[in-house]
Amino acid sequence: MNNPASLENQKAQIEIPIPAVPKPPKRSRDYQQIPLYKDVNPLDWEDWHWQLKHRIRSKDELTQIIKLTPEEEKGIDKAKGRLAMAITPYWASLMDAEDPDCPIRRQSVPVNYEFSIAPHEMADPCAEDRDSPAPHLVHRYPDRVLLLATDHCAMYCRHCTRRRLVGEHEEKDCNPETKFDAAIEYIKSNRKIRDVLISGGDPLTLEDEALESLVAKIRDISHVELLRIGTRVPVTLPQRITENLVNMLKKYSPIWLSIHFNHPKEITKRCKNACDMLSEGGMPLGSQTVLLKGINDRPFIMRRLVHDLLQIRVRPYYIYQCDPVRGTQHFRTPVAVGINIIEKLRGHTSGYAVPTYVIDGPGGGGKIPIGPNYILSQAKGKYVLRNYKGKIYTYLE
Ligand SMILES: *Cc1c(COP(=O)(O)O)cnc(C)c1O
Repeated sequence: MNNPASLENQKAQIEIPIPAVPKPPKRSRDYQQIPLYKDVNPLDWEDWHWQLKHRIRSKDELTQIIKLTPEEEKGIDKAKGRLAMAITPYWASLMDAEDPDCPIRRQSVPVNYEFSIAPHEMADPCAEDRDSPAPHLVHRYPDRVLLLATDHCAMYCRHCTRRRLVGEHEEKDCNPETKFDAAIEYIKSNRKIRDVLISGGDPLTLEDEALESLVAKIRDISHVELLRIGTRVPVTLPQRITENLVNMLKKYSPIWLSIHFNHPKEITKRCKNACDMLSEGGMPLGSQTVLLKGINDRPFIMRRLVHDLLQIRVRPYYIYQCDPVRGTQHFRTPVAVGINIIEKLRGHTSGYAVPTYVIDGPGGGGKIPIGPNYILSQAKGKYVLRNYKGKIYTYLE
């Protein structure tokens, strides 16, 4: 993708109007209530290929689902050919037609703000390209690697940290048989690598056969203990979680799944059903959440999200500070907002509900945990601590 903001680099530090109090999420519609989908055969609706093929990619289609604001209209026009937009009919059916602050809408509909770039924003904020020893591979930590299996997603998030890579452009090396040869060779020849995280793009947008071929090659490497898949498909395209897929993945156990969830509205019955299938297939599920202004930056929303996640057997894993990726200023909160969310969770609710808040160190530092400070002072043999209520305790070593 080329520079999305050639003319507007100067307009940094824009004031973005975000309502002080998010409106209570309205009920999403049943898809049959949406004129565009009212005649869709339920079997088609449940078919993930149908969902992918009928993704919304134009303003004309989107206006049949929601009432677009001028900001959104401008955003869609400018995104054309520069930033990917694709919205599954399933995800679209969760949108509030009237409310531009709808969290489902804001994560998927381009807005004009994406073309205002702040001075510190980068195309590749985590310097993944620099830490890439082989195509499609990022090696940052000693014992684990990140494999970018595809640059496609079911839905393109407006806050995507890899927006430099993702989209529906032609892949340069599209021979699926050889595409990952160098990456696999690298993992094979590095005996320290015991954990391979397959992400992208979204690996679950691959066909079962292509995904299996990749997973089997990695599982075949004797020093690789753990396989992980990073995906948003159970949230944006739950129809993709089929019995075939689950049975295939089961064969390569243990596979842990990290699922990108940002808002309680995403946890629908359909999504729960997909997560149940994965859990029952033996895959432990974790969540990854990006802290997003006006979407999940209030403690009560985040509390509802983590509680709802536990209900569907997803363990909250990370909350990410929104990376300084180009054109995401309108999503970024102060770091204090994230710390306060953890402060309001830890101790006040089940420990399993509390994720780790991290900043991915700009320039390639990796994930750095950030949180409230519970150590008030530390001297020889003596720690002065506070608990979640602010009461003070002394621990003698
Ligand atoms: C996030 C990430 C990992 C995995 O980190 P964990 O903290 O083990 O989940 C591995 N490699 C890269 C490059 C990453 O960004």
